Amino acid sequence: MLDSPADPFAPHTLLTPGPTPLHPRAQQALTRSMRGHMDPEVFAVNAAIQQDLRELYGAGEGTFTALLAGTGSLGMEAGFANLVEPGDEVLVCVNGAFGARMAEMAARYGARVRRVTAPLGQPIDPAQVAANLGGVTLVAMVHGETSTGVLNPLPAVAEVVRGSGALLSVDAVTTAGMEPFSMEAWGIDYVYTGSQKCLSAPPGVAPVAISERALERQATRRTPTPLWYCDFEGLRDYWDRQSYHHTVPVNLHFAFHAALRAALEEGLPQRQARVREMDRAIAAALAPLGFSHYVQDPAARLPTVLALRLPEGFDDAGVRAALREREISVTGGLGATAGLIWRLGLMGEAARPGPYRTLMLALEELLGERGLTDRFEEALGLLVGR
Ligand SMILES: *Cc1c(COP(=O)(O)O)cnc(C)c1O
Repeated sequence: MLDSPADPFAPHTLLTPGPTPLHPRAQQALTRSMRGHMDPEVFAVNAAIQQDLRELYGAGEGTFTALLAGTGSLGMEAGFANLVEPGDEVLVCVNGAFGARMAEMAARYGARVRRVTAPLGQPIDPAQVAANLGGVTLVAMVHGETSTGVLNPLPAVAEVVRGSGALLSVDAVTTAGMEPFSMEAWGIDYVYTGSQKCLSAPPGVAPVAISERALERQATRRTPTPLWYCDFEGLRDYWDRQSYHHTVPVNLHFAFHAALRAALEEGLPQRQARVREMDRAIAAALAPLGFSHYVQDPAARLPTVLALRLPEGFDDAGVRAALREREISVTGGLGATAGLIWRLGLMGEAARPGPYRTLMLALEELLGERGLTDRFEEALGLLVGR
């Protein structure tokens, strides 16, 4: 059944915490004719991407921005590859699967990893970071922990790291473009996201921003960056000096730029408001069915990944399979939260009434819950003042 779909071009409602539905302008940009990676027009698109990324991340002067040819995980790995040398003390905040991935990567690049942890569903405590900074050269934290729907208190953590001498590396995969983010104001040295999350571009490029301080740290390494492909200097050869380094995925650059332009034209504050309105309306509509917030502290709830505890006795696998039959994808928990929660994606184009109306209608039928869609629309209407 799955290997012979009736219509491979049938619309699909993608409500996962990444990838997200493509922005129509990104979809259209994918049809542009192929050009060489050294073509002047491609360099012009690259320069526009670099400029727009500064705005996306709130980056200061001297910050280098670029796309890496890989997914968000490559953005994560490139930071450790360039900024860690064997024996360095690296503090990693771990309160979910992506924080754990960071710790694993830092160790592979030879770091002595110190972990500051929080139980699943709870945010990192900045005081614990402050208490463990002695001798640390790099602090790494996930802003929005996708595996649990937790928003970590980045401004407060950045404040304690600032002035300690340590660099701060941040995973903004579920936040940049949908949540307030300011590299310059907060003093962040390295940040990355994935094209397929909050920007609704196809997967395959990781937008990064690297502060002057981080570039300086990399330039004065005792040993060369072990990951040749993402060596900061090699990236600058191509992005700043227009000389060949590797063949960039040109069509993904086109699509990514179209999506990023669309996001900036919509306005970052407007996007932040949009995701919050959607998040509240969905939670309000589902609450009478017995769905409740998994993250207790309202300030620690990540608006772009709505983690909802399932009602008692709910058939998680069965309902999601039935939704998939109707071309609707919903993601459950991961590891310890499997079978316990749903993680509803509200990044980029997923945070629109249309796709969630589709979900509500399907659930109304599957669960026999009449009025669910009306409840959702009413919550949205009230919240957006319709
Ligand atoms: C999705 C995600 C990643 C990894 O991105 P990939 O594109 O899957 O490599 C890293 N961090 C967070 C917080 C994510 O949500």
